[in-house]
Amino acid sequence: MKPIKHILRPITTFSDKQRMLILLACSIVLISTMFCFLAYSFYSINKESRQRLNALIDIIDEDLAIQMSSADSLPIDKSLAVIKADPSIKHAFILNAKGQVIAYYNQNTEETPHTMQQSLDSLRSRIRQQFVQVSPGVESPISRNGTRLGTVLIEQNEQIIIKKILDTTGISAIILLFALGLSYLLAGRFQRVVTEPVTTMATIMREVSYTKDYSKRVPSFNTDEISQLANSFNEMLSEIEHRDEDLLDRQNQLHHMANFDSLTGLPNRALFNDRLEQAIRRTNRTGEKLALLFIDLDNFKMVNDTYGHRTGDQVLLETTARLASITRAGDTLARLGGDEFTIILQDTKTEETARLVACKHLKNLYHHFQIGNRELFVSASIGVALYPEHGATAEDLIKNADAAMYQAKEKGKNSVELFSETINSKLSEKMLLSNDLHKALQQGEFELHYQPRINLTRNSWASAEALLRWNHPRLGRVPPDRFLPLAEKNGTIIPIGEWVIREACRQLHQWHCQGFHLPRISVNVSPLQLHRQDLVGILKDALSSSNLCAQAIELEIVESALVEDSGHSINLLKELQSMGVKISIDDFGTGYSSLSYLRTLPIDTLKIDRSFMINAHVSEDDRRIIAAICAMALSLGLEVVTEGVECVEQEQILLDHCCHEAQGYYYDRPMAADELTQRFLSSQILLEEMPYRLNTV
Ligand code: C2E
Ligand code: MG
Ligand code: MG
Repeated sequence: MKPIKHILRPITTFSDKQRMLILLACSIVLISTMFCFLAYSFYSINKESRQRLNALIDIIDEDLAIQMSSADSLPIDKSLAVIKADPSIKHAFILNAKGQVIAYYNQNTEETPHTMQQSLDSLRSRIRQQFVQVSPGVESPISRNGTRLGTVLIEQNEQIIIKKILDTTGISAIILLFALGLSYLLAGRFQRVVTEPVTTMATIMREVSYTKDYSKRVPSFNTDEISQLANSFNEMLSEIEHRDEDLLDRQNQLHHMANFDSLTGLPNRALFNDRLEQAIRRTNRTGEKLALLFIDLDNFKMVNDTYGHRTGDQVLLETTARLASITRAGDTLARLGGDEFTIILQDTKTEETARLVACKHLKNLYHHFQIGNRELFVSASIGVALYPEHGATAEDLIKNADAAMYQAKEKGKNSVELFSETINSKLSEKMLLSNDLHKALQQGEFELHYQPRINLTRNSWASAEALLRWNHPRLGRVPPDRFLPLAEKNGTIIPIGEWVIREACRQLHQWHCQGFHLPRISVNVSPLQLHRQDLVGILKDALSSSNLCAQAIELEIVESALVEDSGHSINLLKELQSMGVKISIDDFGTGYSSLSYLRTLPIDTLKIDRSFMINAHVSEDDRRIIAAICAMALSLGLEVVTEGVECVEQEQILLDHCCHEAQGYYYDRPMAADELTQRFLSSQILLEEMPYRLNTV
């Protein structure tokens, strides 16, 4: 049973409103029905009373007619006795033909003299009045043989009728109350049939919004409107669920993209930094050491450029697999980008342990890589830095491991280098040099030296290679191998390269003016110049301002620069070649150019790298290589130049294989422009057929 408080609470909920509506509808129907019933009951009671009175009159009517026609009063009393026997009769009047009351019955008093004096009309009006109120009364004429003898008036006791009406009303009221009570209970039940699905739905909605569990569903009840609503709600939940799954997927993807390398699936730089910081914190707690290995593949760029990025990617995947195969479970292997990998070695006790692990990785990488049907050899250089000795922060540790890796590369690659302060000072020296490069050009610290190139068949000077020298105010002469990589890195090679072209042209022009008709000058061009500089514009300008023709200049480009960006570079070289500028491939043999690829390049000359010449006079293998390159170049219609010729035996090899030109210390070392001018002036040699062995002439 619900407490009254609960029943009387304010109507706020949908189910309460619904229940009240059902109840209101029931009440209206019940009350209307009750009123109709009562009206009908009232009417029936009256009708029944009147029928009873008429029936009574019918009983006494005959007797009264006989008695009144004989004018005997006794029998009238007898007739009245019949009326008196009926307890529901209140009054009865018998009137003669003149309308005078000749007999009278009153339930409460025997006879009232004044009533006897009343006329028929007054009695009639009294009866009508009674009738209108509650108690019905009837009037009936007493006739015999068509003659009216008098009138009988009977009036019923209204108390009895009122009692009947009250009884009926009372019972009706009880039934009404019962019906209303029942309606209230049934309304609750019926309303539940309707609201239960709605309530269930609302509960599930609440749960969904609280728990965010969109896999919940509202049960489908049948096919009515609420079920349709439930189905729509379920559909909406499904959509949200799918959308959420989608969002989650994307979130995971984003998280994965933000933290993992897409090619190898290894942690990327961001996640690696985070892991390294965590590892440092852990090491601080435990008091142990950790080591960081910085791994960089040697010549990976070359592999990428030569065989394409697909092969490069395969090499990176194979490298990842090899590194992962011997990385301990607790350690972190990451790819920082390109061919740079790092490994955090947790709990490394000594430098020696770290070095041993690094050597193990190095050995593991040094086996050939089988990529498709190609066999490639890719070594690596590894730098090692330990925490806390080699860096107090993650940033320092990475920087120092990186520096150690560079040192390993400089030492000849495929090696492991432990960080030391010497490396650090070398690095800071590099940084200083790199900074100084920015102002070196304005301060006129650069100078060009020239090394003659000899035409072997004509025994004359064919050209001179312009070689850059940096006269550093503090460090003195800095060799190009030391500063050119830095200039490439910081971009200063672009203005420096332009200066070299203009200066070389100016110098050649000056020599021409002095009567020294050197046919050509060779200028080295860095890959960056090919990509980022208007080489054609600069050359045209330099040549025209020096009054030189395009044939007076030759550009030396390293092999890798052409393999790297074939499209752009090749178009540029074609344009230069069509101008008349000679193009030669410098350090040929150290790159990966294939013969078929060479044929497509717009080049005039192959310049064999000096590494093949160093031992050519003692090594059969090197001789074979030189022979093969010369034969190949001849068959392709290219000229061959060899650099690094240091002795007569080497020269003989070149002559044997029809090499066109040679350059090296055997003939001349690179020298300042003035020195070369002096050599020319002092030798007094004809310009066209100038013998190269000036000192022997
Ligand atoms: P490279 O173009 O191959 O230049 C030849 C290098 O070999 C020069 O070194 C030269 O001094 C050296 N050399 C010549 N003959 C002999 C020899 O018989 N024996 C030995 N051991 N070495 C010999 P250098 O002048 O130190 O130049 C090194 C590299 O720097 C050059 O190699 C070239 O790649 C680059 N380089 C020099 N000047 C420039 C420049 O102006 N621009 C660019 N982009 N690179 C330059
Ligand atoms: Mg060169
Ligand atoms: Mg060279």
